Amino acid sequence: MSAAWTSTRGAENSCSLMSRFPDTDQHGSAILVKAHRSTESWPPMRWDMRDGLHEGSLSAIIPDGRVSEDVRMGVVAVEGISGNFPRHPNIKTHEMVPDDQIVGWCAACTCGWRGPRWSRVDTSRQAALSKRLAYLPSLGFAVPSVGVEEALHLEWEKHAFPAAAISELNAAVKAAEEAASRLDRGVASARRAGVSWALIGSALGISRQSAHEKWSP
Ligand SMILES: [Zn+2]
Repeated sequence: MSAAWTSTRGAENSCSLMSRFPDTDQHGSAILVKAHRSTESWPPMRWDMRDGLHEGSLSAIIPDGRVSEDVRMGVVAVEGISGNFPRHPNIKTHEMVPDDQIVGWCAACTCGWRGPRWSRVDTSRQAALSKRLAYLPSLGFAVPSVGVEEALHLEWEKHAFPAAAISELNAAVKAAEEAASRLDRGVASARRAGVSWALIGSALGISRQSAHEKWSP
C-alpha cells in the first residue's frame, strides 16, 4: 500500500484530493496519507433536498451489477451476499467490496431514481466527462474525482429539483382538498348548531347569499 501512495498514478489524483482536504498542505504525498487516514470517519456522499422524499447519493457499481449507495473514502458496502467478498462487520446483509472492484458510478435517489452509468476507465487519458468516463487509480479510494462527483450531483439535481417541485404541488393540492373538506364539515356543523347564514358568511368573509348558495342542501 505504501508504494501505491507514492506512485505516479497517486499523484495524478492529488488534485481531487487537495480539493477534498483544502486544509492540508500542498505536498502531494502528505495529502494522500491524510486522505487515507480519514477513510474511517468519512461520511457517505449524500445530497439532500430536505423534503423527506429525495436524498441523492454518489453510488458505486460493481461487476455483478450491484450498486452501493454507501460509498465512503475507502469503503464500499454492497447489499446482498454473493460470497465473493468479505461480509460487512456491522451490517449482516452487506458485503465489503474493495475499491479496485468498482466498475463505475451513478447518482441515485431514495425515491428509486438512478442516473446514467459512468464507466471507470483504466487510464486518466481515457477519462472524459462528456462521455461519462471516469478514471480512478486503485489506491483504496472509492470516490471518483471532484469533477465527476460534481457532474453526478448535477445529474441528481436535474432529477430532484423538478421531482421535488411536483411533490410540492401534489402536497398543495392534497392540502387544498383537505381544507375544502374541513370547511364543508364546519359549515354543516354550524348549521346544525343553529348559526345563521349571515353569521356563517361573515365568519368566512363572504356574503350571506354566497354562503347559502354554496352550502345549503
Ligand atoms: Zn428522487
